[in-house]
Amino acid sequence: MRDVIEDAYSALRSVTPLSNGLDCGKLCGSRCCKGTANDGMELFRGEEKRFENDPDYTIRESNGRKLLICSGRCDRRSRPLACRMYPFYPVPYETEDGTKIRVVYDLRGFAACPVVRDHIRPDARFVQAVRLAGTYLARDPENLKIMRETNALFDELVSFTQTIRSKTEKDT
Ligand code: SF4
Ligand code: SF4
Repeated sequence: MRDVIEDAYSALRSVTPLSNGLDCGKLCGSRCCKGTANDGMELFRGEEKRFENDPDYTIRESNGRKLLICSGRCDRRSRPLACRMYPFYPVPYETEDGTKIRVVYDLRGFAACPVVRDHIRPDARFVQAVRLAGTYLARDPENLKIMRETNALFDELVSFTQTIRSKTEKDT
């Protein structure tokens, strides 16, 4: 089997979320790079090998998942898939022809990321690249599982937000 991680990196090598190469970091002061040592980007299976000997990164485990901690600065060419795809995410769905991928806003960024919060239209090439990366990742059962579980988390976030909204409406 081809290296799915290598293929996913290649798919996302030269795209950015917004059209005309606009830097979305200028909308928010690059908030998604300002996490603390307690934050981290989830690594797909097999991706950790790229960072194991890099002093700029630390890998820690949480609930059986590997998380990558960075210093808040990086060489864009080495950043992980989570950062390359953010603020979008590839979610798998089943069809008669097998597993397909659609691209959604990463709802974990709802509070902090203006692209997610304001539903800013992404560059179509970026969406296509995230879909392709997701298609490569889905070839590996472990990475397919990670994408499915993350999609389930998005569903929970939507449901939680709807509950809060309806409660707020009732109380006002
Ligand atoms: S992805 Fe969102 S949070 Fe990150 S730099 Fe772009 S606009 Fe800011
Ligand atoms: S690895 Fe790079 S792109 Fe990703 S959060 Fe850290 S500084 Fe930002």
